[in-house]
Amino acid sequence: MESPWHLRPPGLHGVVHISTAAPQSGVVPDLHVPQLPALKFPRPPVGWYARLRAIPFIGLHVAAVVTPFFVPITMEAIGLGLLFYVMRMFGITGVYHRYFAHRAYKTSRWFQFVLAWIGCAAMQKGPLWWAGHHRHHHKHSDQEEDPHSPIVRTVWWSHVGWVISGRFRDAPAMKDFERYPELRVLDTFFTWVPGISLGVLCYLLADWSGVVWSFLIGTVLLYHATFLVNSACHLFGTRRYETTDQSKNCWWAAILTMGEGWHNNHHHYQSCARQGFKWWEIDMSYYIIRALGLVRLVWDIREPTEKALAAKVSEPEEATTEVIAPVCSPRGASDGSQG
Ligand SMILES: [Zn+2]
Ligand SMILES: [Zn+2]
Repeated sequence: MESPWHLRPPGLHGVVHISTAAPQSGVVPDLHVPQLPALKFPRPPVGWYARLRAIPFIGLHVAAVVTPFFVPITMEAIGLGLLFYVMRMFGITGVYHRYFAHRAYKTSRWFQFVLAWIGCAAMQKGPLWWAGHHRHHHKHSDQEEDPHSPIVRTVWWSHVGWVISGRFRDAPAMKDFERYPELRVLDTFFTWVPGISLGVLCYLLADWSGVVWSFLIGTVLLYHATFLVNSACHLFGTRRYETTDQSKNCWWAAILTMGEGWHNNHHHYQSCARQGFKWWEIDMSYYIIRALGLVRLVWDIREPTEKALAAKVSEPEEATTEVIAPVCSPRGASDGSQG
């Protein structure tokens, strides 16, 4: 099912800017035709060997399905699994997403590393890889270059297909965080260490029940809850703000992902730490960030501005699965309001 993923609509190609400013006297103006940067995505199809990289991911799923038949479930293992689910989900939502991708708050260098370690324990690759792709998603949401749009591609692709495709081994540059060598090393060489360490800890605390019910099953549940943001949250739910993508506020995804399901709010105003804008939009990740702020482990927590909250609202705000044709033209930067 190789679709023309490497092809781009004509609108993305020949953008040429010609200066119309009045020339200075006696000076022939340069015809300014800037070189467009090479587009990094979509990537061309990869060989079979690149697909082998998906084996650990698929193996984890097989193990999570098979091993529960042989290992008893215990209350201890369930409790640990829940605790580590919350901790690692925050590692993705509060750390990889809101901190590394959107810089929604500030922290110290040592705590930044601790946060990155917790994010790595979710086994969704490193913070630079994850956040780099996520910024790219915002820049090209539901357009041809979006790595995981269910609108441009399929629901399967947006949920998990892009992860196992082998096409996204490299990630767009993250210049602001690449300057920290400890992050580069963690991201490049030791991405699996926090996850494996957590598996060992589960064994020490709850024996094989801990490994299977807390670690294996918890990790797979964590994968698919997180992936819902890429798939379901661009398909199901309500649209409060008229963003140029198909993002939706999806309450059930918000529960599973500790607040990330308020995805239309987030696409509307991307750089704030808060995604549940109304009091009833439960946003556990935001509450944890505020708690960390109270003990001064993080600071400068960015809130949505009055202007952003009062922006044009879709009327009526109602459930919709209607799909608007994606707009095939590049858009602005990854953070801040779309306005
Ligand atoms: Zn999105
Ligand atoms: Zn985002």
